[in-house]
Amino acid sequence: MILDLTVGELLRDAAEADPDRPALIACAPGEPAQVWTYRELLADANRAAQWLLTRFRPGEHVTVWAPNVPEWIVLQYGAALAGLVLVTANPALRAGELEYVLRQSKSVGIAYSDSFRGTDMAVIAEQLRRQMPQIREAIRFETWNAELQAFDGLPQPLPAVEPTAAAQLQYTSGTTGFPKGALLHHRGLITAAHYVHQRAQFPRHGVWATALPLFHTAACGMSVLGTAASHGTVVICRQFDPTLVLSAIQEYRADLYAGVPAMMLGLLDHPDFDSFDLSSVQVALSGGDAVPPDLVREAERRFGARFSTVYGQTELSPIITQTSPDDSMEDKCGTVGRPLPNVEIRLVEPGGDRPVPIGEQGEICARGYQAMLEYFDMPEQTRDTVDAEGWVHTGDLGVLDERGYLRVTGRMKDMIIRGGENIYPREIEAVLTGHPGVARAVVVGVPDKQWGEIIAAVIELQDAANPPSATELHELVRRHLAPAKTPKDWYVTGQIPSNAMGKLQKFVLRDQITDGALKQLPA
Ligand code: ATP
Repeated sequence: MILDLTVGELLRDAAEADPDRPALIACAPGEPAQVWTYRELLADANRAAQWLLTRFRPGEHVTVWAPNVPEWIVLQYGAALAGLVLVTANPALRAGELEYVLRQSKSVGIAYSDSFRGTDMAVIAEQLRRQMPQIREAIRFETWNAELQAFDGLPQPLPAVEPTAAAQLQYTSGTTGFPKGALLHHRGLITAAHYVHQRAQFPRHGVWATALPLFHTAACGMSVLGTAASHGTVVICRQFDPTLVLSAIQEYRADLYAGVPAMMLGLLDHPDFDSFDLSSVQVALSGGDAVPPDLVREAERRFGARFSTVYGQTELSPIITQTSPDDSMEDKCGTVGRPLPNVEIRLVEPGGDRPVPIGEQGEICARGYQAMLEYFDMPEQTRDTVDAEGWVHTGDLGVLDERGYLRVTGRMKDMIIRGGENIYPREIEAVLTGHPGVARAVVVGVPDKQWGEIIAAVIELQDAANPPSATELHELVRRHLAPAKTPKDWYVTGQIPSNAMGKLQKFVLRDQITDGALKQLPA
């Protein structure tokens, strides 16, 4: 039974059954793709486990700070076989943020790549290693493979690892502030990955293509482990480069493409999208952020595929609900689907724990294998998030219908309190993106002496030469929503700030507004 396996055993099982099938294809711009069969990946993972065990003890924490390089996945499986906990750091972290992660996670090792988006990661990693005596070993991915192949240490028995043992310490992506480390176990990660693939109707031996960053469980869990569970192939792109991703889908005949909404849009906006042969794609899968209904329709039409939306969060390994490709267009556009098997969902009064009736808005809580063990070394934050009955309070607001379909209606952390009235940006954003001149709209609260907070809207234009006026947008919101929900200030931006996942960072926008860095939309 797949749910009784550890991450290492999952790979071992696939390699026994399908040794010669491609397990991993790593694509990078301007470089030939690298391919591992299951046999090769298991051999490398075993070598990595042996190498790691000469330096670390089972249960210790090792941070990986690198973009989507294949060594990341070799380390992931090697660490799992060696019983280590992999701390997955966002490659976009600055030196100070990485230092926080290394310290907070009590890491004793760091694995890094030489560079990412112009940052000299090697210099930063080696410097931190010198400054932090707790870091016993640094693994430089660029030379690690040669070291592994030359490694001739005596084989040691691998430790026994329980499926419920910690496998990964995944820092939340920080769209709302400082990251916390969610400690996730083997079974939780495998359960989520396996059932997402099942709900998406991903075929056995299928091909799953993505450019999602490996440090996030949507990639290293959902994408990597899910394909291993179906003995399929995961195609990992080094970065989100639309040409690279479209070429990879075409070349490897991907059955499924997975990306956050910004990555889905990025592909659809490619000027030569229609010249790629994407006929293999059966399902386009997205989530991690609100998925605009137009995106669902556009993606289905342009890919000639069916859409599936996933919803969840890091603390839940990470996916808990999903629409099926068979769902009606109405459900695909308006909901995030039904809970995955083994996930219980209930909605409670925000900030409390009394369940709300079906059809009413409440805070989304979830329970099951996929719940994190804890926020590592943060007992207070853990108690605030996971209650005594094991329910993880997501901080998201939603409405469940009588069929079990969930709608995500807002995020408590994003709530704006204007003159004592609670306002959730998502419904205002939904109205604004309905305007043909608006490509994206983000609504945030900004501090105000009189009201506590006022509403500001930041617009990314469809066509900079033909912007809608602030008055026009103001009237549009007034027509659909209560007057208190109408933004007071209107700004325009060339690019909405996003993190390495492609998810928007509201706190950066708020700072830009307060610093006067954004232009006003003409009245
Ligand atoms: P941080 O918690 O540090 O601010 P983050 O919330 O971005 O970071 P993740 O765990 O990656 O970290 O994101 C989960 C959140 O993303 C969810 O709680 C929810 O608010 C949002 N989300 C995920 N999927 C969807 C979806 N399909 N529709 C709407 N919102 C979604």
